[in-house]
Amino acid sequence: MADLTLICQNCGNEFLWSEGEQEFYTQKGLSQPKFCPICRARKKAEERQWASYRKKS
Ligand SMILES: [Zn+2]
Repeated sequence: MADLTLICQNCGNEFLWSEGEQEFYTQKGLSQPKFCPICRARKKAEERQWASYRKKS
């Protein structure tokens, strides 16, 4: 396996999917990531925000 360049389906930017990450995904039985690390981090942060919002209300 070698590092792969993938296109983020959210922002359209290219990002590197490293060999180590590919191994991790394969071990977990996951398919290849659709979003770049930036979009993934943003999504996670939004989910956290929503979680705390729901807790408050
Ligand atoms: Zn992205």
